[in-house]
Parts: sequence; structure tokens; C-alpha cells
Amino acid sequence: MKTLKVKLKNNSYSIVVGSGILVRLGNILKELRIGSDAVIITNSFIRRLYGKKITAALTKNGFSVKIFEVPDGEKSKSSGIAFRLIEKIATYDTQKKIFIIAFGGGVIGDLAGYVAAVYKRGIPYIQVPTTLLGQIDSAIGGKVAIDLTVGKNLVGAFYQPKIVVSDVALLKTLDKRQIRNGLAEAVKYGVIKDAKLFNYIERNSRKILSIDPRAMKEIVLRCSKIKVNVVERDEKETKGIRIILNFGHTAGHAIETAAGYNRYHHGEAVALGMRVAADIACRLKLFSPKEKERLGSLLSMLGLPLRIKGVGIKRILTAMAHDKKFKSGKNRFVLPVAIGKVKVVEGVSEGIIRQAIRARQ
Ligand code: NAD
Ligand code: MG
Repeated sequence: MKTLKVKLKNNSYSIVVGSGILVRLGNILKELRIGSDAVIITNSFIRRLYGKKITAALTKNGFSVKIFEVPDGEKSKSSGIAFRLIEKIATYDTQKKIFIIAFGGGVIGDLAGYVAAVYKRGIPYIQVPTTLLGQIDSAIGGKVAIDLTVGKNLVGAFYQPKIVVSDVALLKTLDKRQIRNGLAEAVKYGVIKDAKLFNYIERNSRKILSIDPRAMKEIVLRCSKIKVNVVERDEKETKGIRIILNFGHTAGHAIETAAGYNRYHHGEAVALGMRVAADIACRLKLFSPKEKERLGSLLSMLGLPLRIKGVGIKRILTAMAHDKKFKSGKNRFVLPVAIGKVKVVEGVSEGIIRQAIRARQ
């Protein structure tokens, strides 16, 4: 088991990463002294797989356990589900010292974190992410949110967990598409900050795709370190540092939205977005064609999509114009200059963007 520290002004905490560490959850939490009554938020699918295990790990150390289920999928990040859940928690919360456990992927993490942030103006919560994306991305950094009908993540807060416990053994039951979805973000971390991570994924892709515990530990640790480092320097996204985490997301989000959310998973759209960004960087002579090729091959090796299908360029460009990173009408792209280094570039010409998208169609 490895521990990473997230050092923030007021809300420092640890991330522990290991294989088979869920059984130690009670021990780990005992030292934190955040309460005696665990309220687990999860879905029925994850509960069926790991409900008994997490309950035993907590009761063994004297915690009481109550599980609340929400439906599977993004639709659970809604005000309806969130407030029904809060009502249930409030009814249950008499003469107890409760804390919340977000036990699931990014959907559960964002929802449970949001509930913890607003119920009684904030109660302690912990993240036990069960997807690769959760372990390397969404459980770290304290961004919690629910969606509105007009857009994703529009109601939320920065609210840090008391600890993140990432057990890579839980990833064994994920389907391949979900693994690839997380791996797109892992490749992203490699490109923005860590050439060694990129190398590691290249050399170990087979092990990684078969969810080998040692390889997964390495990936989760390295990616977590990068996100932690960025979050430490820019906790509330005010300093423009956190923007590098958006590499591949400008075109990626636009493709995801324009294609309709059920065509591409987020990671697949981000993979396409990274291909587009690399192409733009090449056309601007910031990035070499050889490196672009290398990134493209790795994404293909991981089974991430090569071409943008089922959506026209016009819809993609319209969606892109709504990007939140675009300041006063000017577009902003995070572009690679080498594997391991990116640069923020403003005002990329529409001609170049068009060419880069066309090349993917
Ligand atoms: P998800 O939470 O929907 O999980 C994907 C699927 O995997 C679900 O069907 C889930 O039930 C299933 N699952 C979860 N754990 C499993 C396991 N161990 N075995 C088998 N199946 C399992 O999706 P996600 O990709 O984890 O997260 C996406 C969400 O994360 C989005 O809502 C996004 O907005 C959010 N997000 C938040 C941040 C942040 O900083 N807060 C960052 C990135 C993404
Ligand atoms: Mg992302």
C-alpha cells in the first residue's frame, strides 16, 4: 500500500493506493476519527459485487453501516436524486456521527461528494473509487457536482474528501470499454506531464488491458501524483494551472456533445480530442509528426477510436464555440510540444481547426 499526500491550505488529506486494500478500510478510517456511522452511497450493481466486503471491512472495526443506492448512470447526478437522498440521510441521521462514503465511479463520487458538501453545510466524506477514471481523476481534487438539464456539472463545490482509498483489485470487474475510457485519461497525463508514464503505458499495454494488479497500481499512482501536483498548485482553478488537465478535452467535449452523449464515452471522445490537438500542434509546428504518430499508435493500441463517426464538422465547431475555456470569444487549446509537455495556445485559426477535424473524419 502506497500513500500520497495532498497538501492544501486547510484541507490536506491522503490518497492510499494498493491491491486488495478494501478489507483494511475500517483500520484506515479508525485513525481519521471522522465519525462512527458510515453512510455508503453506491448503486445496486456495485453493491452486489462489493457490498458485503465493504460492510464487513467497516463493522469489523466497530463502525455502523447504512447503504443508500441510487440508479446506475449519469442521470443520478440530478437535483431530484440528490435531494431525495439527502432527505433519506437526514431521516436516518439521529443520534449518530455520520460520514459519507462515495463507493463507485465518477458519477457516485460527484453525487456523494455534493451531498456531503451541502448536507448540514458539510459533513466529512471519503472517496472509495471503483473505476479507473475514478481512481486517477474524478476522486481527486474535490470537485463535486450534479448536472442541470442545460448542462453537466453546473451545480457544485470544491469540497475535499478526508481520504481517497483506491483499491485496484476492484477494477477487475470493469468491462473493457470502461478500462479504455480511463486509459485515455492516463495517456493524457503522460502527454501533459510524464514521458515516463507514457513509456510505461506503451511497454505494458497488454498487462494494463488485462488489469494486471501491479501494472494498475503503477498507473493509478503515477496519474494520481500528477493530478495531486496540479490540484495542490491550483486548488480552485483560479490560477490557470489546472487547465492543462484539459488536454484533449476541447475538441473531445465538442465531439462528445455534438455526437450525442450515448455515442462516445468520455474517454473515447477525449482520445479523439487528443488526436485533433496533436494534429493542430503539428500544423502550428509546435509538435513533431513523429511524436504525433507515437501518440496515435498508443491510442490505437489501447483500442481507442481513430475516426470521428456519426457527426459532422459543423456541429462539432458549434459545440466547441461554447467551451468554457474560451475567453471573450477567443479559443484556447492545450497543445503538446513534446511527450510530457504542453502549452496553452490562444486564438488558433478556424482553418487549422477545420483541417485537424477533417483529417479525423
Ligand atoms: P460511472 O461512475 O458511470 O461508472 C461507469 C460504469 O462502471 C457504471 O455503470 C458503474 O456502475 C460501473 N462500475 C463502477 N465500478 C465498477 C466496478 N468496480 N466493476 C464493475 N463495474 C463498475 O463513470 P466514470 O467514468 O467512473 O465517471 C464519469 C463521471 O465522472 C462523470 O459524471 C463525470 O462528470 C465525472 N468526472 C468528475 C471529475 C471530477 O473532478 N470531479 C473528473 C472527471 C470525471
Ligand atoms: Mg476528462
